[in-house]
Amino acid sequence: MNKRLSLDTYREGVLEGNRVILGQAITLIESSLGTDIEIAAQLVQALLPHSGNSIRIGITGVPGVGKSSFVETFGNLVLEQEKRLAVLAVDPSSQATKGSILGDKTRMGKLASNKRAFIRPSPAGAHLGGISSKTREAMLICEAAGFDVILVETVGVGQSETAVRGMVDFFLLLMLAGAGDELQGVKKGIMEMADAILINKADGENITAALQAKSIYQNALHLFQPSENNWKIPVLTGSALTGEGIQGVWDSVIDYEKQTKMNGYWEQNRANQRLNWLNDQVDFLLRKAFQTHPIVQKNLLDQREKVRNGIVNPMIAAAELMSLFLGK
Ligand code: GDP
Repeated sequence: MNKRLSLDTYREGVLEGNRVILGQAITLIESSLGTDIEIAAQLVQALLPHSGNSIRIGITGVPGVGKSSFVETFGNLVLEQEKRLAVLAVDPSSQATKGSILGDKTRMGKLASNKRAFIRPSPAGAHLGGISSKTREAMLICEAAGFDVILVETVGVGQSETAVRGMVDFFLLLMLAGAGDELQGVKKGIMEMADAILINKADGENITAALQAKSIYQNALHLFQPSENNWKIPVLTGSALTGEGIQGVWDSVIDYEKQTKMNGYWEQNRANQRLNWLNDQVDFLLRKAFQTHPIVQKNLLDQREKVRNGIVNPMIAAAELMSLFLGK
């Protein structure tokens, strides 16, 4: 059981950039205990005026593409610009990635030991490829603690990309050259969500294949509708291992920030994201209220059993539970 602090202690600690308290504050917002949810909401409210000043970057790509290695190389490059960097990373011990914590820590070793960096693995219970339902709040708390670049890493599984895309300013897709499957339907969908594509592992013998893949992706992107922010998605090649080409990603991020702040898209995107956050939070609270409602709880097992046995159809069962919830 994690120790709970007072609201003021959390707030002051986070604002002072106290890393221990920052970690505890994130644990607090990830908690699903009723009392914690209340303090967490107050903490987020108290920290809101101090948040929003970072660049939020999402990173995705299939396991093995080099995300952890990229975060290490890119992260250190960001730190060289006198920035402070927070990484909300997929917990590699989670079943989605089947990695090892040790392996990951080794890959982020230099970053992890830098005082201007903060690395937070997603909690074990996280869903959607390591993305916790509380990642937004975690980003906000990191911003209040003075981090000006936030990286959110997710594995390339289904909805996780959409979820992360919906909470960051810039979305980076890591890909690999070769395999002859560059233009599979799934990838196309993900490509459309990207603000930049990096073909990683463009080193040694892979360089030629990476350059070929680059032109294939570039041609494919020409076929897409122009995005609403008028941004032309760059396709880059680079190596997270040697560092070659990684500066190009940072340059793209900065270009993107400049361009979309000028044309108003940056703020418009964040405003939409705040509305989505509201919707998600309403869903979360409704679900929780429903599940903890004493009369619903009393009847839930019985209804589940009937549905399982095919005695009652799920729509009727849900409607009955709902009317118990609403007291009708
Ligand atoms: P993740 O699963 O996407 O986080 O990928 P990792 O960062 O754990 O990398 C998977 C493997 O690819 C490791 O063995 C890395 O050393 C290797 N790797 C990552 N980036 C590069 C790169 O740019 N070039 C080469 N040659 N290998 C890389």
